[in-house]
Amino acid sequence: MTSTVPPTPPDRQRDFVALVADLGPTFAERAAGYDRDARFPHENYADLRAAGLLGLCVPAHYGGLGADFATYGLVSEELGRHCGSTALTFNMHTATMLLCGQIADDLEMSPADRASHERRRVAMYAGVIGDGHIHAQPFSEGNAPGATAGVTTTAVRVEGGFQLSGRKIFASLSHAADRHNVICITPEDPTIRLMSVPTDSEGLSFTGDWDPLGMRGTVSLTLVLEDVFVPSDAELLPPGVFDQVAHRWPHFYLTLSFTYLGIMRSVMDFTDGYLAGRIGPGSRRENPQKQAGWAEMQVSYERAHALARHVLADAGVDPSPTQVRRAWASMVSTMETAPELASLAVRVCGGRSLLRPHTLERLYRDARCGATMLPWSVEACLDRLGRAGLSGDEDGGPHA
Ligand SMILES: Cc1cc2nc3c(=O)[nH]c(=O)nc-3n(C[C@H](O)[C@H](O)[C@H](O)COP(=O)(O)OP(=O)(O)OC[C@H]3O[C@@H](n4cnc5c(N)ncnc54)[C@H](O)[C@@H]3O)c2cc1C
Repeated sequence: MTSTVPPTPPDRQRDFVALVADLGPTFAERAAGYDRDARFPHENYADLRAAGLLGLCVPAHYGGLGADFATYGLVSEELGRHCGSTALTFNMHTATMLLCGQIADDLEMSPADRASHERRRVAMYAGVIGDGHIHAQPFSEGNAPGATAGVTTTAVRVEGGFQLSGRKIFASLSHAADRHNVICITPEDPTIRLMSVPTDSEGLSFTGDWDPLGMRGTVSLTLVLEDVFVPSDAELLPPGVFDQVAHRWPHFYLTLSFTYLGIMRSVMDFTDGYLAGRIGPGSRRENPQKQAGWAEMQVSYERAHALARHVLADAGVDPSPTQVRRAWASMVSTMETAPELASLAVRVCGGRSLLRPHTLERLYRDARCGATMLPWSVEACLDRLGRAGLSGDEDGGPHA
């Protein structure tokens, strides 16, 4: 399995990770405030924009940094290490860049569709690079676990474009994104369409309260679309391409997991510092039981991390059934190991580690959220893994 897009060279990968690492301490300092107030990390986004990172996965000839999917994974992990909410929302933004860039380049399109796609993405990239646009990706409606199932938001054809109506739950970057990229269907056809809706569109609103357990800075309200007009050029992928992603580029749905790898790294850093006495009430390094817990944590972390890195190298078009199964396994491993590791850290470090301003209690809450994220929630991945191979149909349906 490969991608038609050349891989980012290792030295460039290191440069991009270093860009985030430089911002990291400031992001880590701000994280407690975003969490306490359930407030979007606007200041972090200003810094990401100034560093050129909104264009991380925008190809270089459109003015971006030109990073590929695998590089995104490494950068996202580093971001998650400093602020989970920033990393998870950055995922929504960057996933759209990847969908319209590297992933679209790997998929089938007619020459006419390819030409119109090119025109549209040039405009989208210009918005990101020139005007600092932030993109969101509210796909979920809460009706079904599959990436292309249960979509009831409609796009009705009207003069010059479409009129959109529907509701999206957990629309991360509510009020913060410039564009909300929703999936929908036309009444005459079940093909999934991807439409980009400007945040100031008439008929677009947000409802509900936002006071969740974790990932509080994502500000993921319910997005309501009531007869919202978008021009034809708002369609970000030609019809049928989004459905192809689920069959042919399923590793796209892994992108969420890198945030949680970063959170795990942060749990490890915290525990190391706490047990060694660099933070907290004093050293606990001589206690054999704590050493045993710390050893257990290292094994869990390394196992999840190694599998995630292996799978990152697999990402591309037309994976083998084995590669897709491995990706599901990695998703389960990351999304379950993160909260387990945070829970173990609480036990090993002890009661005072839970007190603010220590970061562990926030990491513990943020880590718990990953398993619920569709379409590759832990349950959905386990369900697919349980059937894979046994029914002999692993090549037959969409992988997401
Ligand atoms: C912090 C946070 C941020 C998020 N941000 C975004 C975002 O930006 N964009 C976005 O699109 N989504 C986002 N989500 C939503 C997420 O991806 C899920 O869609 C959401 O958690 C589902 O919630 P639910 O209560 O509907 O759960 P679920 O119980 O998972 O239900 C969803 C539907 O799928 C069915 N279902 C679920 N699991 C199974 C199963 N194993 N077998 C059969 N049926 C099943 C349920 O019956 C139901 O119909 C976010 C979630 C969180 C927690």
